[in-house]
Amino acid sequence: MRIERKLLEKIAEELTKQYGKSETWKRRIIKRVLLNTVSRIVPGKLWIVRGVPELGDKYQHYEVYNKDGNYICTCYIHSWSSRRRPCTHVGAVILYERITSIVEPGPGFEPGK
Ligand SMILES: [Zn+2]
Repeated sequence: MRIERKLLEKIAEELTKQYGKSETWKRRIIKRVLLNTVSRIVPGKLWIVRGVPELGDKYQHYEVYNKDGNYICTCYIHSWSSRRRPCTHVGAVILYERITSIVEPGPGFEPGK
């Protein structure tokens, strides 16, 4: 089963509104999912998001944790500003989890198709 781009956009739109984020934030989280940068390490608790230099990432990988319902990203260690939170790594993880709760990743999982 292929991922509908429209579905991805729709969920991203909902998240953007929910967190009061910008159109840019939305485009970035969609891009991170389309580039398949999110890996689920411990279900519900830990993910690794591959850094994308094009999106301004300085590190090769970012770890996103869910602690008691709050998402924490390793990029928060490097930035004192909370303005960007949730960052687009966290946004991408949430988007990835929403989309895979509808369609499980597997041989047929082709984001962006
Ligand atoms: Zn981050």
